[in-house]
Amino acid sequence: MSWIDPNFPRTAEPSDLVGRVLGLNPGMMTGPGTNTYLVGREHPILIDTGAGVPEYAPLFDAYLKRRGWPRPEQIVLTHRHRDHLGGVSALSQMFPGISVFKRIWRDDGLPEGIRDLRDGETVAGDGATLIPIHTPGHASDHLCYWMPEEQALFSGDLILNGSTTVIPDEDGDLGQYLDSLRRVQRLGVRRIYPAHGPVIEDGPGKIQEYLDHRMLRERQILDALGAGTDTIPEIVKAIYADVPVALHGHAAMSVHSHLKKLRQERRVADQTQADAPSRWTLL
Ligand SMILES: [Zn+2]
Repeated sequence: MSWIDPNFPRTAEPSDLVGRVLGLNPGMMTGPGTNTYLVGREHPILIDTGAGVPEYAPLFDAYLKRRGWPRPEQIVLTHRHRDHLGGVSALSQMFPGISVFKRIWRDDGLPEGIRDLRDGETVAGDGATLIPIHTPGHASDHLCYWMPEEQALFSGDLILNGSTTVIPDEDGDLGQYLDSLRRVQRLGVRRIYPAHGPVIEDGPGKIQEYLDHRMLRERQILDALGAGTDTIPEIVKAIYADVPVALHGHAAMSVHSHLKKLRQERRVADQTQADAPSRWTLL
């Protein structure tokens, strides 16, 4: 199955308490598109809103009608990235007065009326409870939602199915990201509903796979530095040999996120150079 699966179902009922409507925004970063989840029995809570693709609102409306649901009770967002909150305006017009919540943190330019939701501030739904878990690393404002009824986690972009999470240079932090993975690992998660890709039935296995993957990359980077490969472009060439060159920009961002973490841990140092990439060395 490819990451951008054109046959990924546009709607689904992964459980009695969870419905899914696809954001219809497929791409390299989003896979088949952003999953938006309706959680609860007859008065569901909506998690995320897609990118604001015009075809999403009618698909969402048709899905509600099919389930016999008049409207979502409220909307909660995982984080500020466009492909998660881009649909807020259209949905606010469709459902006047609907409340929209997210962790408000270093935000500017948010759609009007979004309210703050803090770590642990339980959202009581109809037959389902959502507990926001602050999980920075991919984005500083990132929330996962823990649903005790199913021991399930709505993981946003912390954990995806079919790709690895990007740690953006600006707002990302790999050290925090790994702490966030360890935090959700302690919850006793069974199933994971990711914001991109299909449901993950083996939650603990996936979390461990994600941690192992980052640890492997870290070892590869340390080995490359040990062998005298000392700039990000060279490190990318050495350890991402099997990744298409089109993705090397993202690979460079990922290597940089590792180097910043290692620098914070005082295991590497960098030296900037005029008109050339920085040189990194082991300490
Ligand atoms: Zn994101």
